[in-house]
Amino acid sequence: MKIIVLGPQGSGKGTHSSKLSNVLNVPHISSGDILRDNVSKQTELGIKAKEYMDKGDLVPDEIVIQLMKKRFEESDCNDGFILDGFPRTLEQAKELDKIAEIDIVLYLEIPEWLAIERLGNRVVCKNCKEIYNLKSVRPKQDGICDECGGELYQREDETPEAIKQRLNEYKEKTEPLIEYYKNKGILKTFFCDKDNVPVEENFQKILSIVRS
Ligand code: AMP
Repeated sequence: MKIIVLGPQGSGKGTHSSKLSNVLNVPHISSGDILRDNVSKQTELGIKAKEYMDKGDLVPDEIVIQLMKKRFEESDCNDGFILDGFPRTLEQAKELDKIAEIDIVLYLEIPEWLAIERLGNRVVCKNCKEIYNLKSVRPKQDGICDECGGELYQREDETPEAIKQRLNEYKEKTEPLIEYYKNKGILKTFFCDKDNVPVEENFQKILSIVRS
């Protein structure tokens, strides 16, 4: 099964993609994680990408498409994947159409105030990338990942300025994809405007939408 998880930053793409990946037994592929990995390894593309990421801008299509195509060639993608954060522009969506037939686009719709609230409180495990929220999904021990004991940190692009810029980029460049996939008849929407619903409760609803 090939699924794209679409939605603004803070909509739960990372959390629910990872859960879907476990249930459906296909890899969770996050373009943001791939980019951050390239930045920390200081690869040629990672060095170029960093200046955009730090400001909250989208990385140019050619860089992202090159990295993603390389990832799709790996053997674990043969039975499908959950795409988190890719595609983010029409150009990327059209490139993806050339190499894969997508079954479902799951759109996680949330209001902007909730996205800002969640991003400002988000911490991530440096090691396994598990995501926590300091208000609603706290780790058992401050600063330590429940899953692997890794160190939790706040992303560099989660300052108020970068968050605002990332949400602007989303509206301008990524939102048009909703119409694009609606027209293809493969869009399924999960709307959430509450911050106090347990993750698992939302996930069960998402799973039934995916399976419907
Ligand atoms: P994310 O972890 O998905 O929020 O992505 C973090 C940052 O990586 C974004 O703010 C962009 O700078 C960059 N990025 C991730 N995915 C893409 C993409 N598909 N196209 C362009 N830039 C991306």
